[in-house]
Amino acid sequence: MTRTDIIIVGAGPVGLFTVFEAGLLKLKCHLVDVLGQPGGQLTEIYPKKPIYDIPGYPSVLASELVDNLMKQIEPFNPEFTLGEKAEKIEKIEDSLFKLTTDQGTEICAPVIAIAGGLGSFEPRKPPLENLEKYEGKGVDYIVKDPEKYRDRDIVIAGGGDSALDWTIYLAEIAKSIKLIHRRSSFRGAIDSVEKVMELANSGKVDLITNAQVTAISGANSVESVTVETSNGIVDFNADYFIPLFGLTPKLGPIGEWGLEIEDNAIKVNTYDYSTNIPGIYAIGDINTYPGKLKLILCGFHEGTLMVQSAFKHIYPDQKLSFKYTTVTGISGLE
Ligand SMILES: Cc1cc2nc3c(=O)[nH]c(=O)nc-3n(C[C@H](O)[C@H](O)[C@H](O)COP(=O)(O)OP(=O)(O)OC[C@H]3O[C@@H](n4cnc5c(N)ncnc54)[C@H](O)[C@@H]3O)c2cc1C
Repeated sequence: MTRTDIIIVGAGPVGLFTVFEAGLLKLKCHLVDVLGQPGGQLTEIYPKKPIYDIPGYPSVLASELVDNLMKQIEPFNPEFTLGEKAEKIEKIEDSLFKLTTDQGTEICAPVIAIAGGLGSFEPRKPPLENLEKYEGKGVDYIVKDPEKYRDRDIVIAGGGDSALDWTIYLAEIAKSIKLIHRRSSFRGAIDSVEKVMELANSGKVDLITNAQVTAISGANSVESVTVETSNGIVDFNADYFIPLFGLTPKLGPIGEWGLEIEDNAIKVNTYDYSTNIPGIYAIGDINTYPGKLKLILCGFHEGTLMVQSAFKHIYPDQKLSFKYTTVTGISGLE
């Protein structure tokens, strides 16, 4: 079991920046996110939108802000468990929590910081009989490790950016790739649509529009999918079926951890963003208190104050002296 100082549930902007502030106090962090990549809402909902209210940046693309945060926390070597949902928290010793993910990964730490935003992003699933039987056995809702699709027959369904981007990426490594979309026009970025069209024209992608997957078959794992098109019903060989119909946030397991919840958010003390359970804090969009604003800037502030309290929780006998980064630098802190 991995051990760290602070487990951060949620690798959105607030979880990421908290690694930096914790690093200044020499506290190690391990982030867990159900998404396959860091950035939370910025990566999942609006990567190409400019944000105008980050101090010091008159305008910054959401994806650029995430890249910069990743660069900023690099010196502190945070650990990441991505593509896994934080499912269970239990106290295993007097001041030690164990977090278990939906895939059985276990991490323990004296402090847990919940930076879960709007909750865990859950995939929108197509209404197919037996879908659950094939989950993890050929049906994937997020692409966690692209290499597993090398030289395999892949069917992707969807018409947004994720479906287009992964079709483009996997076209290079898959044995065959089909993109099934129920309309003839796509919702994604124009240059991605153009690239998919080029790949379809050159025969690298089999693009099937005005169509949808209506069934999955296979003895123990996916072997074929049935597609209904305007010309009739066709069965295609497939090792993997990847429906990419977007993700919707749900509070999910966080609501079952014994924390005080109000309006789908965790109640905190604004002194240090602690929850009703000592050692567990909640920062960013996931928390609520009088006057709360769901802004990145406010989450950064909350994470900064929270780690000061976390330090005292972990080392009750040590004195914490506050220092500016202009005085200490970053590398000298490691
Ligand atoms: C369209 C849009 C535009 C916006 N524009 C602005 C703006 O201009 N300025 C601004 O300041 N804010 C803006 N916001 C709000 C801003 O995006 C949020 O305040 C910010 O994302 C909150 O960051 P966070 O880290 O708290 O949460 P999130 O970004 O939501 O990240 C939380 C992460 O936690 C993960 N998670 C949750 N539960 C679990 C679990 N059980 N296990 C594993 N992982 C879990 C989620 O998958 C997610 O990745 C905008 C929001 C939207 C939707």
